[in-house]
Order: sequence, then structure tokens, then C-alpha cells
Amino acid sequence: MKIALINESSCLSKNAVILRELEQVVKPLGHQVFNYGMSEEDKDYNISYVELDGDACKNPEAFEAVIRCMKENGIGYGSVNHPVDRDPICGYTGVIDDVCPRCGRREGEAVPVEKLRELRKQFPGMPRFIGLE
Ligand SMILES: [Zn+2]
Repeated sequence: MKIALINESSCLSKNAVILRELEQVVKPLGHQVFNYGMSEEDKDYNISYVELDGDACKNPEAFEAVIRCMKENGIGYGSVNHPVDRDPICGYTGVIDDVCPRCGRREGEAVPVEKLRELRKQFPGMPRFIGLE
């Protein structure tokens, strides 16, 4: 098996240790390790992550600007991390600000059983609560 080791710039000081330990474990098993992460020899910082604290769908121009900035600055591997919430009651997955866009509840609030039944008609994959419905 071919194994890629990919560390980003914040792991620069750990790359050699991780590479050595990984090779010690997998090489005797016949696997190959390819070091694509940051190393002391390679100070070309081309792996970057951008953390967004909001819903990228609400500002696609800003999201595109981040991607273009990565491209124009030679980022070889760029990733944009963004929040994804999941309402355990209705199963909605996405960014939930204060109110769940599917069921309309706030965190900690309950949803009436009648409303759950109504929502289940639209979203059959919603979580089920045995004994409550
Ligand atoms: Zn919900």
C-alpha cells in the first residue's frame, strides 16, 4: 500500500518524527510512505487550512475570494473548514444559527410530537424516538 504523510505548516517540527515512526511501523509490512508534508528541508508552505466561523453559503463572494487567494499564492493543498451542525431532534444538517431552519426550535427546546409527525412526512429520514411517536 502507498501511504501519504501530509502535515501542514503547524506540524513542521513534528514531520520528521511522524515520518520516522510511521515508516518503522509500516515498512516492515511492505508498505511505502510518501512524505508530502512540511519538512525542515522544504520550507515551501503550500499546505493551508482556512477556518470559517460562519455559513459560507451566505457569502459566496468571500468564499471564492479565499479560494482565489490560495491559488494566487501557490497553495498546493488548500482546505476550507466550516461549521456543520446537526439537530439531533429533526436531523437537519447544515449551519444552524439560533433557530433550526427545519423544525424551528432553539437549542434545548422541545418539538411537539405533532410537529415531528408533520416534518416526518416531508423528511422521512428524520431520527425516530421509540415510545414518543
Ligand atoms: Zn431542527
